[in-house]
Amino acid sequence: MKLCTLVSGSSGNSTYISDGTTSVLVDAGVPGKRIECELSAIGVEPGSIDAVLVTHEHIDHVAGVGVIARRYHIPVYANRSTMLAMTAAGILDRIMPEDLLVFENNTDFICGTLRVRPFSIPHDAADPVGYRFTSGGVSVAVSTDIGGITPCIRENTLGCRAVLLEANHDVVMLKNGPYPYPLKKRILGENGHLSNDNSALFACELAKSGTETIILGHLSKENNTPELALETVTKGLENGGLLQNCRVVLAPRYYHGEPVIC
Ligand SMILES: [Zn+2]
Ligand SMILES: [Zn+2]
Repeated sequence: MKLCTLVSGSSGNSTYISDGTTSVLVDAGVPGKRIECELSAIGVEPGSIDAVLVTHEHIDHVAGVGVIARRYHIPVYANRSTMLAMTAAGILDRIMPEDLLVFENNTDFICGTLRVRPFSIPHDAADPVGYRFTSGGVSVAVSTDIGGITPCIRENTLGCRAVLLEANHDVVMLKNGPYPYPLKKRILGENGHLSNDNSALFACELAKSGTETIILGHLSKENNTPELALETVTKGLENGGLLQNCRVVLAPRYYHGEPVIC
């Protein structure tokens, strides 16, 4: 399995996942051209993508979905509420109805050679999900835009070989930062975003469960720094004596990350 973030953060998210036979994007939250450019940079032909799977309708996850789906006739997968929210926002205009595929949360479906499990996450969108992908006995997961760690997130990410996990903000930076109070409250709320500290706590659970690589993603530009996110989570693992089991890497905000192969 290969997992590679193309962009990651509040200004756009897209992740490439492939088992060598079936290749998908989780979200396409930047203009189509940017996605094409980052895919080319990792040696992937955009036309070889088999599906775009949407986590939720926020613009940093869907801005390029329409262009990518239309240009390459790639089917779009989402649950019903997310599909409706994207339709209302005009994201799915001029996509053939047969290319819009609706799934149920927390129920596996097959996409080519990948077994896909969309799982419910706590976030302030219509019906947001994370994804777990399994092929050849190996699983990887994408779990960002999460206000906290729920039993459902544990069930679907523990034991995965690689996990893209949110490390959105440093709580002190956010509290002292320029955001208006209601926005701070939203981010800190149970349907907001995961802090570095909470990411570090969950990283320990992941490392104990056998996760070998944690990719920290969806870092806030205003309320975090890559160094701080990496340091907080690495220290957490180190304090738990888990650093030898699990490596931590960062998903860059504006360009592709290092491909993780497992
Ligand atoms: Zn969101
Ligand atoms: Zn987001």
